Amino acid sequence: VVKLSNVHKSFGALKVLDGVSFEVNRGEVVAVIGQSGSGKSTALRCINALETIEQGSIEVCGHAIHSDKLDKRALRLDVGIVFQSYNLFPHLTAEQNIMLAPTCVRKLGKKEAKDLARECLARVGLAEKADHYPEQLSGGQQQRVAIARSLAMQPKVMLFDEVTSALDPQLTGEVLKVMEDLARGGMTMILVTHEMSFARKVATNVIYMRQGKVWETLPGHQLENPSTPELREFVGSEL
Ligand code: ATP
Ligand code: MG
Repeated sequence: VVKLSNVHKSFGALKVLDGVSFEVNRGEVVAVIGQSGSGKSTALRCINALETIEQGSIEVCGHAIHSDKLDKRALRLDVGIVFQSYNLFPHLTAEQNIMLAPTCVRKLGKKEAKDLARECLARVGLAEKADHYPEQLSGGQQQRVAIARSLAMQPKVMLFDEVTSALDPQLTGEVLKVMEDLARGGMTMILVTHEMSFARKVATNVIYMRQGKVWETLPGHQLENPSTPELREFVGSEL
């Protein structure tokens, strides 16, 4: 579903992605880990065509991201992305936040969009908060609304960039639970995370990025047994 081949990306003189290649198949969960500045967010942003690449190729759900002919709108119907900051509209309720894109972009009727919003809120365990405004919700609840909003577009792939980093440990748990449920439900997911135990439990594969390269790839359940000393040290520092 997602394939990066020898992707290179620089910001000025700074090489941020230095020949990155990896593949994600349907239903797989890939956790991207690594030190700050190793290029994790940039890789994710390239997958959703929020950044351009200088060399290499990226295929996402049949879209060639590197092509001049890329239809970004079609791409973004297939790919959902959730960031650390939830970016909900403060003047709209949870439900209205979720209804916005389905009505504007997918042209659903109000009734259909409302039903869809309710269903997505239920999936993230917030059915009873539909009429709450963001300021009336905890950080974890707001993040779950942001995930529900993304789900409402029925993406084929979901990207998550450190969605729990701004949350207290307790709120982190409830957001991770939602992501775990999504994974178990067969959603194809790529997530940048510092949650090593989550990566170990849920990820099909873990990709360790270092200096803009894929330094090591291993199955989630093998995370305690890295091959490279660099990953061993990194995992040790994160646990
Ligand atoms: P973190 O764990 O801190 O989120 P990261 O692995 O996600 O780190 P990136 O955000 O991909 O790292 O950034 C990689 C490098 O690229 C960093 O050195 C960063 O300063 C630089 N960088 C990222 N975005 C830009 C930009 N728009 N312009 C210039 N430099 C950038
Ligand atoms: Mg980042």
